[in-house]
Formats: sequence, C-alpha cells, structure tokens
Amino acid sequence: MIPPVLPTYARAPIAFERGEGTRVYTADGQEYLDFGAGVAVTSCGHAHPHLVEALTEQARKIWHTSNLYQMPGQEKLARRLTEATFADTVFFTNSGAEALECAIKMARKYHAHHGHPEHFRIITFEGAFHGRTLATIAAGGQAKYLEGFGPKVEGFDQVPFGDHDALKSAIGPETAGILIEPVQGEGGIRPVPPQCLRGLRELCDEHGILLIFDEVQCGIGRTGRLFAHEWAGIAPDIMAIAKGIGGGFPLGACLATERAAAGMTAGTHGSTFGGNPLATAVGNAVLDVVLEEGFLDNVLQRALSLKQKLAQLKDAHPTVIEDIRGSGLMMGIKCRVPNTVFQAAALDQHLLTIVAGDNVVRLLPPLVVSEADVADAVARLDRACRALEARAA
Ligand SMILES: *Cc1c(COP(=O)(O)O)cnc(C)c1O
Repeated sequence: MIPPVLPTYARAPIAFERGEGTRVYTADGQEYLDFGAGVAVTSCGHAHPHLVEALTEQARKIWHTSNLYQMPGQEKLARRLTEATFADTVFFTNSGAEALECAIKMARKYHAHHGHPEHFRIITFEGAFHGRTLATIAAGGQAKYLEGFGPKVEGFDQVPFGDHDALKSAIGPETAGILIEPVQGEGGIRPVPPQCLRGLRELCDEHGILLIFDEVQCGIGRTGRLFAHEWAGIAPDIMAIAKGIGGGFPLGACLATERAAAGMTAGTHGSTFGGNPLATAVGNAVLDVVLEEGFLDNVLQRALSLKQKLAQLKDAHPTVIEDIRGSGLMMGIKCRVPNTVFQAAALDQHLLTIVAGDNVVRLLPPLVVSEADVADAVARLDRACRALEARAA
C-alpha cells in the first residue's frame, strides 16, 4: 500500500525533533552532529537566535500579501543582494529549481528582446544538477531523472565536464547561454577551476551569449566568499541562488544584471509566494549574519582546518578513502567503499553527511561550525573508517 507521503525519497529511519547550532536531536534526546545542514541549507545553524527572532517578529505582523503590492522587506533584501554582488536586480522564488527556471527564461527572453528568439539553447555540463522541474531535469541531463517523464524539454546541450573543445563546438547559432555550477554539488563536489570560469566569461562575451551561474548550493558563504565565483574574479550575467539564503525557510532568487534582465518586464514572470514577507524577513536575517565582519574569515579558517584533518584521515584510511576534494565548507570524500555504506557508518557515529554522485560523501556543515565541531566531526569519521576497516578484515 502506498504511504500517505508519496514515496519518492529513500529516507533514513530517523527523525529530528529540534536543533541548536550544529547539533540536532531526536525525540528521545539522542544528539547528532549535523555536517549535512539539510543539503547546505541551514547556513546559520539550527535555531539561530537572530533568525528565530526575525521569523517570529515578522509572523506577528504579516505573513503574506502577494506580489500585487509593495513589499519593503523584499525590496530591502534585493537591495542588499545587489549591493553585495554583480547584480542589478533580483527575482525571488521558493526554491532553487524555480530560481533556475527564472534564469533560463530570462536568458531566452534576453535574446528574444534583442530580436533573436531563435537563440534559446543553453549549454550545460555532465554531472550538473539544477533541480527537478521539467526544464531543470533537461538542463541537468541526468537520465535517471528524465526517464519516464515524457519528451525532454527542448533546448539544452550537454558537454563533458572540463572538455574545452566540446564546449566550443557546442556553441551554435541557437545558443543563448552557458549554465554552470561553479562547484558541482550533487555531481560529487567538483570545483570548476577559476581559470575555467574566466574562460567561460570570455567565451560568452566573444559569442554574445549569457553566462549563468547556479550557486544554489555553493553560494551564501559556503566557499568562504559570499559567492563561489568571486574566487575567479569574474561575474555571470545571471545567477540562481537558494538553499543557504533562507537558512531553512524556503527561499530562492534569480539575480541578474540590468542588461541580462532587459526583457523581463511586467507580466513576463511571476510567483505567488516568491519573496513573501516571512521568507524575506528570514533572508535578511541570514544576510545580517553572513555579511557580518569576520564571518567569512571564520568559514575560511574552519575550512582550512577541515581540509587538513580530512587529508590526514585519507592517509590513515587508504582502503576507505580515495580522495578529498572541494572548496571551503563544501567538501567531498571520494570513497573506496560504496558512499551509502560510508554514510551509514558515519550515521552510526551520529554524524550526518550527504551522498553525491561519483561515489562521494559530502560534508556541508552549517557555516557557524566551530573548531571543536570540526575536530569532533573528523574524530567521528575516523571511528566510522575504523569500523568499516574492521568489517572488511
Ligand atoms: C539543490 C539544488 C538545486 C535545486 O534546488 P531545489 O530547491 O531543490 O529546487 C539546483 N541547483 C543546485 C546546484 C542545487 O544544489
């Protein structure tokens, strides 16, 4: 019999009742160290007092008005995002996939606005993940997500990750833009080298096409800069964000330059809930925390320590760990055992992690993680590795 909740997820047999900072607790009081952060979502940790305050204060005033009216909180968040980035304008959504939908529509509209509606195709990369809507599964190009859902949405051309020649030959007379995650998340924590991001920028400028970044997972401080592409010293024309910006409240956004957004006039796009007062109150509170002086320095220091400790862990357990990779507090452990087995062994040590493609286990702790948390997580991973080695012996 089908369960009341549609069974599309393979859930771990565990439920959490409350959380505080980097820790979550089951109803019977068992503590877990959260190095998954609900897939890079709880950027400020669980129950951050400033976020709780912002949410409850807004909840007492007004929850929802719709985008039919002025929304001061939304305007404030948009202003702060534009001030902190390359962008001139922001569209708010409830999720990452919707932010990507806006980005894709905007890229197509840009060319239509300039008299070239035939420029509608977008180049994406193998291993990409952009969400689960019909357009974003076509963009991601993963067979397992496309299968059985009818004809693939037209207009996406996928090239192998890191194959410069394939990329250049994929640009054709119908190309509207290039869409890429500066650090691939679901694909297995694969950072795009800064020189490649710069190369993409040049390529787009050369061909008059738009560069679109998907920073849904790697954005909002995750790599130690507000956005991962900042490391490359270049900027996209359009960028999708979500996950970390809401700190756990469903919130996403599509950021763009004035030039790229030229065709997006009144009536061309919309959302009932997108950027509502509750969501943007929390989004503003997240920015208060993340933009505070010294916050990103702390991320960088914790990241350096995590990276060093993981390198030692790899050396100590060569039969379990093949490689360590990633950027900032977005780290991947490429496993020699199945990643689901590794993840289960970590869960036995009450450490939450998240699997990804390419047999990788992701570590995505809240950005407020302490040095003690980092040491604790690696100690738990060490015990998990020992347990896996004992099992294999
Ligand atoms: C999670 C994710 C998405 C999709 O976000 P949803 O909120 O699940 O729709 C898109 N792109 C990337 C890189 C992601 O990590």
